[in-house]
Amino acid sequence: MSYDDSNIFAKILRGEIPCHRVYEDADTLAFMDVMPQSPGHLLVIPKTPSRNILDADPATLSKVIPIVQKLANAAKEAFDADGITVTQFNEPAAGQTVYHLHFHIIPRYEGASLKPHTGQMEDHGVLAANAKKVVDALGA
Ligand code: 5GP
Repeated sequence: MSYDDSNIFAKILRGEIPCHRVYEDADTLAFMDVMPQSPGHLLVIPKTPSRNILDADPATLSKVIPIVQKLANAAKEAFDADGITVTQFNEPAAGQTVYHLHFHIIPRYEGASLKPHTGQMEDHGVLAANAKKVVDALGA
């Protein structure tokens, strides 16, 4: 399957739809997931298009993974999490629903299970407040 630039993350990258942005550099964007599986669930995407990890240029991966690490540490601090789950799905059979490579960063707590993947839409005020927590943790 080839990359289709009508996907929702391509629209976010083009500024056609808004997001609660927490981090951006020349190669990478990170923003809050609108249907969080846990408070503070965020997404890290490379700006270079690929459908998922299967067709990504290794040079793109080498730029995005350090940012995944940076945001994982920021989210752990911002939400006082016990741990962080990083997930990344490839093709529908694996659970992928948006076809622009992305990494999920999900704060975890001892004994707490996750809400469903692509479950309930979060209130935008909550997403904005959580985005600020991540930005503050990055700046600390
Ligand atoms: P996937 O299933 O492809 O791994 O993950 C796609 C993720 O994107 C899901 O967790 C879903 O909640 C999130 N998502 C879907 N539409 C939007 C949107 O318009 N904005 C944001 N910020 N996240 C979205």
